[in-house]
Amino acid sequence: MSKVPIREGLFTQRTEGELIGFRCKSCGHILPPLTITCLSCNSDDLQSIPLSGKGTLYSYTINYMNSGFMKAPYAGGLVKLSEGFWIYSVLKEKEGKPFVIGMNMELVVEALWEKDGNEVIGHKFQPVA
Ligand SMILES: [Zn+2]
Repeated sequence: MSKVPIREGLFTQRTEGELIGFRCKSCGHILPPLTITCLSCNSDDLQSIPLSGKGTLYSYTINYMNSGFMKAPYAGGLVKLSEGFWIYSVLKEKEGKPFVIGMNMELVVEALWEKDGNEVIGHKFQPVA
């Protein structure tokens, strides 16, 4: 089964590695993946950088209805990355580590679902061991 990224340009190694963020060359602001212009100064002179993949759980919910290709139940939430912004993500359970607001989270890059015989690769966050 082939792996395809949910979006091109999201990860440093197409279907693995780190999320790609941006540093504004004009004002130095660090920006989320897939950003086109700086959210602080509106410059489009951005340099891609790997993000830390580390953050804390800001909020979450358990979804009991399918959403797109995601099969319920699944957890989703906002993770505040160490770079200072929030990112919405599917959350991956870790045995013995129930979700708690403020807990440390880390990036996992893996299949979200299968489509047309491919594994569709995206980002998830899970509690740090
Ligand atoms: Zn800027």
